[in-house]
Amino acid sequence: MVFEGLVIHKVPYKDRDLIVKLLMRNGLVGSFYVYGGQGGGKHHKPTVFELGAMMKVLVRDQKSQRIEASELMVCAEHQRLWVGDHIRYDVHAYYLVCLYFEVLQKFSIPYQFGTSDYQNEDHSGIFSVLSNALFYIEDALAKKRFEAQQHLTLFLVKLLFHLGIMPDTDTCSYCGTGLLESEVVHFLPASGQFSCGQCSQGENDKGFLLRIKKGYQTKYQDYELFKGTNFSEADKLIQYFCHQYHLRPVELKAYSLLFK
Ligand SMILES: [Zn+2]
Repeated sequence: MVFEGLVIHKVPYKDRDLIVKLLMRNGLVGSFYVYGGQGGGKHHKPTVFELGAMMKVLVRDQKSQRIEASELMVCAEHQRLWVGDHIRYDVHAYYLVCLYFEVLQKFSIPYQFGTSDYQNEDHSGIFSVLSNALFYIEDALAKKRFEAQQHLTLFLVKLLFHLGIMPDTDTCSYCGTGLLESEVVHFLPASGQFSCGQCSQGENDKGFLLRIKKGYQTKYQDYELFKGTNFSEADKLIQYFCHQYHLRPVELKAYSLLFK
């Protein structure tokens, strides 16, 4: 059976082996044992399982393998289909994609050989979000127009949308007033709601609200049109995501590297 997916986690095992997690096209996460996956050896081969690389992996009948855990599949053959060459050499871009991989692992569903339905596409939107995110970070770096906050906010808007936990951006969650008619609006990360200026206090989040709406509508290939955001807005979305999944942002290692 053939699987394709993006490397979101890898752990060296024994001298030369590797255990990798791939976010597959169906949006589930497959775990693979790769003999010799660390590269090296007589010919000093480099590993092809870089974080963020798109891999194609062949798994033979599990029963004949030594490792029988249903979540860990043994990779018989592999091929790298894509890798972002610029991402590896830009420290901010690298931290950013590491944050994406960490975030994804907080909610992703494991693929189980023989039990999960590989053809089920219910979660494939998550794969699209990540693959587009990586591809267009690479694109921006190649054009020397990479802005981490632009990519991060757009990624989070798309991800929250696919997870079905996007805040209501149309009406005040307390009184039902249309938010676009309200000059002042507030975002409440704990509940992921917007309120009008009458119903709560705080800084004005109208610009943030408009950018979320814009992010919804912006196709990934048009990411350059998504302007004006900043780390503080991305942070609000991360706070909200963490609240939904009962996490604290400090639990995301790459978060503290990006937001210091
Ligand atoms: Zn209100």
